[in-house]
Amino acid sequence: MADSNRFKLAGVMGMPIFQSRSPIIHNHWIAVHGIKAAYGHFPVQIHQVEAAVRGLAALGLAGCNITLPHKVKAMPLMDHLTPMAQRVGAINCIVVQDDGSLHGHNNDGYGYVQSIKDDKPDWRADAGPITLLGAGGAARAVIIALIDAGALEIRLLNRSRDKAEQLAALNPQVVKVHDWSERHAALAGAAMVINTTNQGMYDQPPLDLMLDELPRTALVSDLIYVPLETPLIKAAKARGHLAVNGLGMLLNQAVPAFEAWFGVKPVIDAALRQKILATF
Ligand code: NAP
Repeated sequence: MADSNRFKLAGVMGMPIFQSRSPIIHNHWIAVHGIKAAYGHFPVQIHQVEAAVRGLAALGLAGCNITLPHKVKAMPLMDHLTPMAQRVGAINCIVVQDDGSLHGHNNDGYGYVQSIKDDKPDWRADAGPITLLGAGGAARAVIIALIDAGALEIRLLNRSRDKAEQLAALNPQVVKVHDWSERHAALAGAAMVINTTNQGMYDQPPLDLMLDELPRTALVSDLIYVPLETPLIKAAKARGHLAVNGLGMLLNQAVPAFEAWFGVKPVIDAALRQKILATF
């Protein structure tokens, strides 16, 4: 396993999966660093997740990313979970150890915060209230990362209020649940608004959110990157806000995964951004 001449393999496991841009990201870095490796798509049905994950070590893979709908189901198959993966309750990355054991990571929150810092280097989580819409898997990772980064107030709103209440239990001092019907008013005085719902994705209607109450200085963030400019991002730019889409989160979550598999910390360079942008 530790043979440095070994050709390394990794990939992204999910269903559907061929829309994933992760192979472009990792194969770019593999080429940049001249590593003998390749990264591919692994289409795996729900009922085959266990067989596929257990096969990673048997086949000598370096590891893989795990995406929808397997992020939770793959968790109990791990021999070890990072503290972050345990807190999020889902994994997005598996690293096969030299002894064949499987370590589960969740790098989504890291990727999110890093993407915001890329676009706003002086960003601080404690700059003011953060209004966050949605309470799914991505919201959980983002909220944990925001709490760790020092957020003082997160106004959490979700169509199904019960899911928001569950997430608020992460830190009730910081995460305050508001009713979905209050989402427009919940922008008043906010330093940042984050869309973690699927509303605004290419196959979904726009997020129903009026920005009138949002201070012009607020940062607007949408986790969606297909399309790159959601109606929310367009409306925010039209009002003069700094608006950050979800592409940076995708790129940044890949950095620690690549480093764990291949031993080099990669850089998100202009050539990589161009390659990704060319796919839209
Ligand atoms: P998820 O667990 O399925 O959560 C979906 C969320 O959208 C829930 O809060 C859901 O509310 C809400 N929602 C669905 N339909 C709605 C509607 N008609 N009106 C209002 N809210 C609605 O999905 P996820 O994994 O968290 O992903 C959420 C988004 O983040 C997706 O767009 C995904 O592409 C994006 N994402 C991006 C990255 C990245 O790297 N940039 C990574 C992960 C996810 P209910 O609870 O009421 O159903």
